[in-house]
Amino acid sequence: MQREEIYQATLDKWGEEAQYDQAVEECAELIAALKHFRRGKIDAQAVIDELADVTLMIGQLTWMFGKKEINRAIEEKLVKLNKLLEE
Ligand SMILES: [Mg+2]
Repeated sequence: MQREEIYQATLDKWGEEAQYDQAVEECAELIAALKHFRRGKIDAQAVIDELADVTLMIGQLTWMFGKKEINRAIEEKLVKLNKLLEE
């Protein structure tokens, strides 16, 4: 299955609300992992695993909210960031 087919299948099986909840949960796990990594309690692989989870949820939500809209917002933010870097 292609990634977008998986996103649709996930949505069909568990619904929209569950995707928001899952994204929040995965972000919280990444936050905790980064805190633990900084204190030397976990290794880089554990952070990588949580990054993979969050990346997949970002893919899911990006697909749900619209790739074009997300890319436009990213471009706007990159312009702002670039301006800050030039200051
Ligand atoms: Mg996770």
